[in-house]
Amino acid sequence: MAGGAVTRFAPSPTGLLHLGHAFSALTAAAHGRFHLRIEDIDRARCKPEFEAAIYDDLAWLGLDWPRPAMRQSDRLPAYQAALARLAPLTYPCRCRRGDIRAALSAPQEGALPAGPDGLIYPGTCRHRDLRDADPDDVIRLDVGRAFDALHLGSIGFRDRAILPDCDHVLTRAQFLDGIGDVILSRRGMGTSYHLAVVVDDAAQGVTLVTRGKDLFDSTFIHVMLQRLLDLPTPAYLHHRLIRDDAGIRLAKRDDARAIRHYRDKGATPADVRRMVGL
Ligand code: GLU
Repeated sequence: MAGGAVTRFAPSPTGLLHLGHAFSALTAAAHGRFHLRIEDIDRARCKPEFEAAIYDDLAWLGLDWPRPAMRQSDRLPAYQAALARLAPLTYPCRCRRGDIRAALSAPQEGALPAGPDGLIYPGTCRHRDLRDADPDDVIRLDVGRAFDALHLGSIGFRDRAILPDCDHVLTRAQFLDGIGDVILSRRGMGTSYHLAVVVDDAAQGVTLVTRGKDLFDSTFIHVMLQRLLDLPTPAYLHHRLIRDDAGIRLAKRDDARAIRHYRDKGATPADVRRMVGL
């Protein structure tokens, strides 16, 4: 039964929705009034036919949401305004993946340090000024300066599903070592997943973010951005992930697990609920 929260389901139209998405969307709907948000900032990977399939598969599952759904590709001015507000804490970065790998390899033996966005950025461009940004630079948040600006020594949040009675906390040092200077604006996009999610959750009045456990570490980034932008921090519930028979988390390329595939084989929405353990 739906609770009183405002929740959301925020897929990217880069493939067909699979059973993991079905579980995520049904979880959002079970906890409140759910908003749909199409996360299509990566124009090169998103396709209109996948967006149409999202609407169709969700409606088939019996879900409903306020129309029209929010589309991130319509929201660039809001992201740019947030980026401008954060400007004193950001810097332009021209490092490509190979540069980052080389910089990290020098002092490091073995596996390179990685966080929710991949390799931990070693800070090579941190001294650079935004006024000297090149058009194809990315914009990064200087996390050390962000902690200073917030007068905080740590960032934390509670999760309704994982240890609900205690705060999940990262100290400044843990944040720097385990996440690092996150990208707020990607090359040619004018925003990043993290910035867009935070701006949009606030704009949609979301009070409970339900999403997969794989995004747990990213939530520390989102809470930091909410603090920096004076936005409310919603409640969080990171749910279990749906895995295939080999125990591997489903991905967009798993077309065999696409909702569409089960529909075509004659499954009902109730069958899909059962398959994801609901
Ligand atoms: N768009 C993200 C995805 O498809 C989810 C975003 C979120 O829940 O914050 O995995």
